[in-house]
Amino acid sequence: MDLGLTGRWALVCGASRGLGFGCAQALVREGVHVLMVARRPDVLAAAAAQLAAEDAAASGAQVLHCAADITTPEGRAAAFAIRADFDIVVTNAGGPPPGTFRDWDRDAWLRALDANMLTPIELIKATVDGMAQRGFGRIINITSGAVKAPIDMLGLSNGARSGLTGFVAGLARSSIAAQGVTINNLLPGPFDTDRLQGLFASSAQKTGQTVEALAATRRKGIPAQRFGTPEEFGAACAFLCSPLAGFITGQNLLLDGGAFGGTF
Ligand code: NAD
Repeated sequence: MDLGLTGRWALVCGASRGLGFGCAQALVREGVHVLMVARRPDVLAAAAAQLAAEDAAASGAQVLHCAADITTPEGRAAAFAIRADFDIVVTNAGGPPPGTFRDWDRDAWLRALDANMLTPIELIKATVDGMAQRGFGRIINITSGAVKAPIDMLGLSNGARSGLTGFVAGLARSSIAAQGVTINNLLPGPFDTDRLQGLFASSAQKTGQTVEALAATRRKGIPAQRFGTPEEFGAACAFLCSPLAGFITGQNLLLDGGAFGGTF
């Protein structure tokens, strides 16, 4: 299916690995020019080179990259200095650490809020009015299944991402909806990325179980009996970014292989 995205410009955050990389790759395959942002210059440069060689060559897309911490004003300024106008913005940054709320002080909460609520809002603020003026825009926030079904040890994520979800629910239904701009959240369940491996490693330390045993138990709890892939995640992102998805806004799409047990 041609998604009709050729020649659009996208800013994809947290794009060097995992779900952000999956989104960047899917967009590049659709002919979207992509500015990839992530913190580590070497890892990011290698990821951008991979997309340029394997995916952009066929689609004609440009692949730019900017090594920056997107959760800081300086990092965002560095990205927007490369290009200011985007048709598509994928917000994403590392998830907060696991733990227990009795150990989290104000600074821990502020870090989580900065990364997983306020940074997406700043990125939206910087781009949404230009999108509305041009009559087309797509904002995708990578949040978490924890917004729908909280995860005990990820209280910082449960809280901070719920704040973003509430804000976006209102903004998506404001005047921008009539100006061709949609905002949707993608809620990953367990996807096979470094983040998931890191969470298993953290649980392994606490419980004495092996990472393999923890992963096997988790897989068994998913009706699909497996973890998702960044490629599957990217495909959902690319569809929501397309003109074909223009009537979908303010939604929270759970991608979890059926793990969430509710009817809706
Ligand atoms: P990951 O750790 O594999 O990759 C994260 C990417 O974001 C990397 O490219 C990293 O360099 C980049 N990044 C992190 N902090 C950044 C910052 N401050 N500025 C710029 N780039 C930054 O993680 P992932 O599995 O791809 O997850 C992406 C998001 O989805 C995270 O917020 C994570 O908590 C959330 N999530 C993931 C899963 C899962 O199963 N993988 C499940 C639920 C939620």
